[in-house]
Amino acid sequence: MSADMLEIDGSYGEGGGQVLRSALTLSLVTGTPFRITKIRAGRGRPGLLRQHLTCVKASCEISGADADGAELGSQTLTFRPSGPASARGGSYTFAVGSAGRTSLVLATVMLPLLLASGESVVRLEGGTHNPLAPPYEFLVEVLFPRLHELGFRIGATFERAGFFPAGGGSFTVTLGSGALLEPRAASWLTRGELTLSGAVVLANVGDRIGGREKIALAASLGIDRDAVTIKEVPSPGPGNAVMARATRNGLTHELVTAFGERGKTSETVAEDAAAQMKKYLASTAPIGEHLADQLLVPLALAKGGTFLTHVKSMHLTTNAWVLSRFLGDVVTFADEGNTTRVEVRPRP
Ligand code: ATP
Repeated sequence: MSADMLEIDGSYGEGGGQVLRSALTLSLVTGTPFRITKIRAGRGRPGLLRQHLTCVKASCEISGADADGAELGSQTLTFRPSGPASARGGSYTFAVGSAGRTSLVLATVMLPLLLASGESVVRLEGGTHNPLAPPYEFLVEVLFPRLHELGFRIGATFERAGFFPAGGGSFTVTLGSGALLEPRAASWLTRGELTLSGAVVLANVGDRIGGREKIALAASLGIDRDAVTIKEVPSPGPGNAVMARATRNGLTHELVTAFGERGKTSETVAEDAAAQMKKYLASTAPIGEHLADQLLVPLALAKGGTFLTHVKSMHLTTNAWVLSRFLGDVVTFADEGNTTRVEVRPRP
């Protein structure tokens, strides 16, 4: 084992797949090899599931890295990148299989490819609308605009939705190469007056569901029904999601999602989405819970910055810890009333 191999405890904090994904990203960018043990020890089915294995294989494919222990169920993995900034721009397809969470595979390879020389076109196949992961709309409406503000160039084209359990969704992401476009430190401290709207996403389920969800979401949020759109998407299987968004000056500050499922009424799904939105609106912080943990690595790899969020989640503090293992203490938290101020310094 080389002297500078980092040892990562996969059970730390949240103890989920994010520890592995962020370690892969940071290893590819810095060139630091790592060995992770107790992978996803905090979860009911620990070890590498298909999504995590796809993340490891994708990391090897874009960079020529090699990995020991890249097998389903494995709780230990050794990852050796071929050098710092070793990702190469190009055309890639990553299929997670059935309804595996494609957005998390994208999260793993996104920064290394954004920082690589040469553009990339990445096609992702699997689940595009999964609970406990960013749905496609969150990526394009919430995450990508923040990445643009940091100077990264990224865009996506939607093809088909993949809902649990059938999956079979796909989308293609284009990632601009090399130099950041007018890079600047972020300062996301205020959000101003927000406008609320909603979207009901339907795939192969009856129109009645969409209509009921539209009415219930508008009522729960106290907005006009016309502010809720119904979007039918092509998909191999059935699926339904209700989204509520908060925007200002063309920027979606937050987009929350609730999923329809058997035994859950349309009204309950809509109220679930509205309740998540009200939780966000109850504070004055611009950055929502999920966006907060997803911004740490991009900020550290761009010019850094400061933001306010309303939840100091375990995903957020765990991701800060993974960053500290690779880059030193670049993240600082300060509690301010009902918000948390997060400062991320750029990598040394
Ligand atoms: P696990 O290992 O826990 O089974 P995992 O590898 O799928 O799961 P986590 O480590 O839990 O994933 O990370 C999930 C990521 O998805 C986090 O970055 C979280 O912020 C994000 N996320 C979860 N739900 C949403 C949502 N509704 N909108 C946007 N992002 C979300």
